[in-house]
Amino acid sequence: MSVPPRPLGRSGASIAALGQGTWDLEKADEASATRALLTGLDLGLTHVDTAEMYGSGAVEELLGRALASRRAEVFLASKVLPSNASRAGTLAACERSLRRLRTDHLDLYLLHWPGAHPLAETLAAFDELQRAGKIRHYGVSNFDARELAEAVRLAGPGKIVANQVLYHLEERAIEHAVLPACQRLGVTLVAYSPFGSGRFPAPRSPGGQVLAQVAARHAATPHQVALAFLLRDPTVVAIPKSAHETRVRENAAALRLALTPADLAELERAFPLGREPAELPTI
Ligand code: NAP
Repeated sequence: MSVPPRPLGRSGASIAALGQGTWDLEKADEASATRALLTGLDLGLTHVDTAEMYGSGAVEELLGRALASRRAEVFLASKVLPSNASRAGTLAACERSLRRLRTDHLDLYLLHWPGAHPLAETLAAFDELQRAGKIRHYGVSNFDARELAEAVRLAGPGKIVANQVLYHLEERAIEHAVLPACQRLGVTLVAYSPFGSGRFPAPRSPGGQVLAQVAARHAATPHQVALAFLLRDPTVVAIPKSAHETRVRENAAALRLALTPADLAELERAFPLGREPAELPTI
């Protein structure tokens, strides 16, 4: 049994439970990164997440080249920088992203984090882009529960379909208020940096040993266990990044890993939730 695609907010559309991150992908060997991305598509990791910020546009350009022949299979997400997120600035940023990505539409467009431009302006631009068919859906990123509720109030019910936030075994702060808010408001939570952005628990650390034990019981790997832990909640999807085909294969196989209640309890003890921080953690 593999984890099927999950509902995208209240849109009626769906989104792959596991996608592919692309931050820093411009630093990888392009042929290797392209193979990794295409293998991911073959294995159902169709949600490809990028941003105008990544490599100052170079990652979107790389994706434009890599995905050109398979655009129809991809659920393509990008993000506008808060500094560009005035009404006119958002429209212009989206056009630039579309050009670099060699496509006529984005499947999901997010505000990268809350900024100085009034949110109502950004949302008005998102709405205009949606009506013009240039973006299918829109949402936010790095919004805490209060900011998310305000965004939903401004946009209207059902309009904000996703909130992309930092979420991994060692950083579970979103479980306190953001995840419940997403669930209440019908917003899909997209977990970014699901491996801690390269700071994965070391094999000899106490947490690393628990990960290895749980993984061994399923003939799986610690990275697969880490992803399956995040996907235990049906309103969460995750976007691990790898520029390597073998790792993408490994990550995709997490879709077939069903953790037991005993596994989850062990992981909960090894990676406790902790107290709610004053501010939403971000990278
Ligand atoms: P991540 O996915 O947590 O970790 C990526 C790191 O893990 C890379 O160094 C990768 O190496 C390595 N890796 C991947 N699979 C592995 C495996 N099976 N075994 C061992 N190592 C593995 O980090 P991330 O890139 O920060 O987060 C994922 C995506 O979330 C980003 O790429 C981006 O799209 C998004 N993001 C969004 C925000 C935001 O503010 N909205 C912030 C951060 C990230 P290789 O690539 O060398 O294989």
